[in-house]
Amino acid sequence: MTDSCYCHEAGKMAAECDDLGTVFRSVGTSFGYEDIETKFARYKEFKSTWCRSGKKVNFQITDYLAEAGPEVLGDFALSLYMKIARRGDGDIYGPRLREYLVSDAFLERNQPLYVKRSRNLSRSPRGDNFDLRDTYDNLMATGMLGESRNVSLNWTIKENRMRVGYCSTIMHVVAISSLLDNMNVPEHVHEYVLYHELLHLEDGLSSSRRHHTAEFRAKEHLYPRWRESEDWLRRLAAKKVDLLRS
Ligand SMILES: [Zn+2]
Repeated sequence: MTDSCYCHEAGKMAAECDDLGTVFRSVGTSFGYEDIETKFARYKEFKSTWCRSGKKVNFQITDYLAEAGPEVLGDFALSLYMKIARRGDGDIYGPRLREYLVSDAFLERNQPLYVKRSRNLSRSPRGDNFDLRDTYDNLMATGMLGESRNVSLNWTIKENRMRVGYCSTIMHVVAISSLLDNMNVPEHVHEYVLYHELLHLEDGLSSSRRHHTAEFRAKEHLYPRWRESEDWLRRLAAKKVDLLRS
């Protein structure tokens, strides 16, 4: 059997959760593992890693699940073991886990933690020129989007040029590049980027790696000034516009 290692260094949690080890050991036994170690790790993203050698496996589980109950952890353990064994359809979110991930309890605990761990977030919707809460309200008023629950709106600290929008669908966190928070960039450009990111949020937790499907593009093109906005973003990326700070 070949070894596979996806292990990263991570700090040990102050209080280890007993449930975690118990659940992972009980599920792992049915997959033939004899030596199973688990601990929570403080990754910024919702990710877990493992190191496997024969019948031994060592997991570092995202600490965003530190308050999850044994049933949710059981679902998660099962999906990870299935993934290691390359069984199943690759959907990492089982029904109970999925229900937990979209709960208020999960978001209330983890969204602030995620924002704190993200070094490039302004932690405020208020920019120098535009307030993302106003932009959000304007978009909602168009009726093109459903209401997003508890979304955290942020500008980036760095003026990202290539990746002008970011969305964590699991944490309900959206960030728009502060490059667009400029009087010389038309207001519809950042509005369009926010619209794009909110569409991702509306799509919810997807196990698919394909995010920009034809269906997604069709919805994106419902934004009246999408073509003009795309054109602006292309010119910004190519540094073809001179943006003097206002
Ligand atoms: Zn996208």
